Amino acid sequence: MIEKLPNPVDYAVPGFVLLILLEMLWVWRRAPEKYEPRDTLTSLAMGFGSTIAGALVGAMVFGLAVAAYHYRLATIPFAWWAWIACFLLDDLAYYAFHRSAHRVRWFWASHVNHHTSQHYNLSTALRQTWTGFFALSFIFRLPLMLIGFDPAMVFFCGGVNLIYQFWIHTEAIDRFPRWFEAVMNTPSHHRVHHATNPRYLDCNYAGVFIIWDRMFGTFTREVEDERIRYGIVKQLGSFNLLWVAFHEWIGIARDVWRAPWRHKLGYLWRPPGWSHDGSRETSDMIKARWQEKQAWKSSTLSS
Ligand SMILES: [Zn+2]
Ligand SMILES: [Zn+2]
Repeated sequence: MIEKLPNPVDYAVPGFVLLILLEMLWVWRRAPEKYEPRDTLTSLAMGFGSTIAGALVGAMVFGLAVAAYHYRLATIPFAWWAWIACFLLDDLAYYAFHRSAHRVRWFWASHVNHHTSQHYNLSTALRQTWTGFFALSFIFRLPLMLIGFDPAMVFFCGGVNLIYQFWIHTEAIDRFPRWFEAVMNTPSHHRVHHATNPRYLDCNYAGVFIIWDRMFGTFTREVEDERIRYGIVKQLGSFNLLWVAFHEWIGIARDVWRAPWRHKLGYLWRPPGWSHDGSRETSDMIKARWQEKQAWKSSTLSS
């Protein structure tokens, strides 16, 4: 087993900074409102804090991965085909993680950090969670170690995956050729993922390859004639770092505290927006309401 490979993300940071500056220059003349200094600063600070949080628990997560590797089914060598297989399966694991992160409130409480910006630019990509470990995000990668991929290989692939996801957080790129949009996650697909428009809720969970969303029925195409509203359904409206990082955890604690005993657990594992008395809306409910309205509109138009 290889002890550890370098973290590719460390080497990508100068590239991130350079590309953010270039995008800022690009929007300067066209649409200066696309960058808001306080929003960008919040995203950068969340990114920085996330690196610190990662460093604090990194050894523990790697230790858990090594422990899982101990019980592996096979020993997969450091061969070229293994790298390809590992990258693909890691991307599938990312899809599973990301989909759960939007559908289970306990996971969402950490992932929501990434969605709190009402802007969509390269700095949004760096708005990363501080509480990923607490939300058990690492469990989705453990099956790869159990199959027999070396933890060092898995974490390296995970780093490359994260780097790929940086550049798709932009409105500066419209669409790529059809074949590219069919296979790869792109700015267009990921804009949809960050949108709060009912038609776009809960889709395009992909990391690098959009094929997973197409395979598992969660793909939605970006339409031309609808302006995207970015952020979360109930906008945070705050640049307070601690609130950005912990607001949903506080919300969970409050709900669990107040709910009757038999409903307490529901506030942990049910989708965000679920409530035992039906006083709130989940994304499914919002989407269904919107679809009903669309159906009504088209039936009144045709009659
Ligand atoms: Zn997401
Ligand atoms: Zn994103």
